[in-house]
Amino acid sequence: ETRQAVPLNDLVRAAVELLAYSLRADGVTVALRLDPDLPDVPADPDRLGQLVMNLIVNAQQALGMRPGDRRLQISSGIDGGGKGLWLRVADNGPGVAEALRESIFTPFFTTKREDVGTGLGLAVSRGVAREHGGDLVLETERPLGGASFLLTLPLSGGGS
Ligand code: ADP
Ligand code: MG
Repeated sequence: ETRQAVPLNDLVRAAVELLAYSLRADGVTVALRLDPDLPDVPADPDRLGQLVMNLIVNAQQALGMRPGDRRLQISSGIDGGGKGLWLRVADNGPGVAEALRESIFTPFFTTKREDVGTGLGLAVSRGVAREHGGDLVLETERPLGGASFLLTLPLSGGGS
């Protein structure tokens, strides 16, 4: 665990760049709406980067099932009281069935073929968020009509 001042927007841009070729090949349009005034967040950059990557890869895989336009929107901001940050990863894929809302965060839960998904991504990602004193949830509001995941992180650190 190496906690340092992490520019979350840069982690997002790095993840999108890493996946740019593959997203393009899948016909996914990425819209970034990153708050330019986002303060650095105390975090382990490797773990946080992995979390961001997990969310984007999940969205990409969900979008692969969608015919027609495929859209991914990633936005960031400061919460109302200025005490924390949020990051939202939303897509216009098939979304998550109501009955599976909480199961998807369970280790080894996957709806993918076993050579595609291990079912660990969201469980680990939520764990990383909580280690940092934050959380990761599936939102009921779906800005693009598919799934929308919200990561919240306190600016004061916290967690273990
Ligand atoms: P895996 O990707 O290996 O299946 P995850 O823990 O990352 O494991 O995700 C668990 C499940 O949550 C997925 O199998 C899928 O059913 C669902 N899921 C995750 N992200 C999305 C998304 N963006 N759209 C629709 N379903 C999703
Ligand atoms: Mg996954």
